[in-house]
Amino acid sequence: MVEEIIIIGGGIIGMSIAVGLATHQIPVVLVDQQPDYRKHNDTFIDNRCSAITAGSAMIFEKIGLWKNMVSMAQPIWQIRVSDQKEHIASQSRFFVHFNPAATGANISQPLQPLGYMLANRDVRRVLFEQLIHHPLIKYYPGVQLTNILYKNPTEIQAILSDGQTISSKLLIAADGRNSKVRNIANISVVRWSYQQHAMIFNIEHQHPHQGIAIEHFTPGGPLAVLPMCTDGHNKSAIVWTETPEKAEYLYQQPHQFLEHILEQYFYPTLGNIQISGDKKIYPLSGLHASRYVGDRIILIGDAAHAIHPIAGQGLNLGIRDCHALIDIIYNIKRLGLDLGTTSMLHDYERRRRPDNLLLIGATDFLDRLFSNHSRLLRSVRHLGMGLVHRIPPLKMVLMKQAMGMLIDAPASSKDN
Ligand SMILES: Cc1cc2nc3c(=O)[nH]c(=O)nc-3n(C[C@H](O)[C@H](O)[C@H](O)COP(=O)(O)OP(=O)(O)OC[C@H]3O[C@@H](n4cnc5c(N)ncnc54)[C@H](O)[C@@H]3O)c2cc1C
Repeated sequence: MVEEIIIIGGGIIGMSIAVGLATHQIPVVLVDQQPDYRKHNDTFIDNRCSAITAGSAMIFEKIGLWKNMVSMAQPIWQIRVSDQKEHIASQSRFFVHFNPAATGANISQPLQPLGYMLANRDVRRVLFEQLIHHPLIKYYPGVQLTNILYKNPTEIQAILSDGQTISSKLLIAADGRNSKVRNIANISVVRWSYQQHAMIFNIEHQHPHQGIAIEHFTPGGPLAVLPMCTDGHNKSAIVWTETPEKAEYLYQQPHQFLEHILEQYFYPTLGNIQISGDKKIYPLSGLHASRYVGDRIILIGDAAHAIHPIAGQGLNLGIRDCHALIDIIYNIKRLGLDLGTTSMLHDYERRRRPDNLLLIGATDFLDRLFSNHSRLLRSVRHLGMGLVHRIPPLKMVLMKQAMGMLIDAPASSKDN
């Protein structure tokens, strides 16, 4: 039997494309090396939180997922960016404050948040519930892709670790930054290291966060406090980027030590701070695949591109990949054409490459501009922040970019 589409990798991106395609009546097989989600205990699951742009929320809405996520999503109403501590920064002119309420724009429309914060485990749970109940999704957990073969020009075969061979017309690689599919297909990548580690953990704090995300730039990297859904407690997620040595040092310190530093940084906004749950460290690096397509193969999400988390956009890029690909596949199927044709594959690459490259460049530039001791660069960033502060249209463009609305909006309004 020849399947329509096989997806390798059941992270957030693999599950999203599986559910999105099935919602459009396109059957898929989803293979993931992680064991069945129902057998995971909570500590096994990714304990990160992600900023989801308003544009990504619209994409989730289109595939019927947002209604199950929205109750767990904390709207981000404002973003404050500075390279000074909170009490000094708020009085400084080198302080950028993205606040849609203050711009007065779109007064006729209800105020829209800049984005949402969601725990990755909540997003996964919602996706998983959808995929196990969908009649058009065959789910193979705990199985690895080990090889790819071609029986004839119209079929690709995925060889799996349990001995199965699955033939399909198209293979979608959503198998993350160390993509096996990408290696087998001989698609080269450019990789770079940021020489930084991100330490992540959650906190509870005395004062409500009011939906405000704060990003402080320190010479070692950004320190972000991101508002989380409250459930009766004032909670936020911390992404603390530092040089590898300093991150390792901080990681070893008792909670009280870290809480004291954070209280000073975010004084008086958050009040007393307590760390809750585990800490985890991620070495930061970026990558970009030289092409997103191979013979009947398409790369999406981190398999195609991975960026610095400075602007919380990596997952959002993957969600936009899913959106473009679902649109292309749906139209190819509607016309009764072959799913793996070169023109279809290249159409996807044409649609996604500019957005991905723009974000790779922008996040790389921001990290280099802010994460250093250089006096010259400090003056440059103060000049930039001052300009953003004083030129409302520029601020509006940046705000829309943060919301994922510049690129998503036209595509999202094109209903399938
Ligand atoms: C510290 C940090 C903070 C971040 N914060 C944000 C944020 O706020 N907002 C945002 O948008 N992005 C953020 N990101 C980026 C985001 O986490 C990633 O872009 C996203 O998780 C990538 O998802 P993915 O599904 O493409 O890949 P992955 O999550 O890596 O999933 C890949 C899946 O493929 C499976 N797999 C791999 N190989 C095989 C194989 N051979 N066979 C079968 N299955 C296989 C794996 O088991 C896994 O389930 C952050 C990243 C970091 C490091």
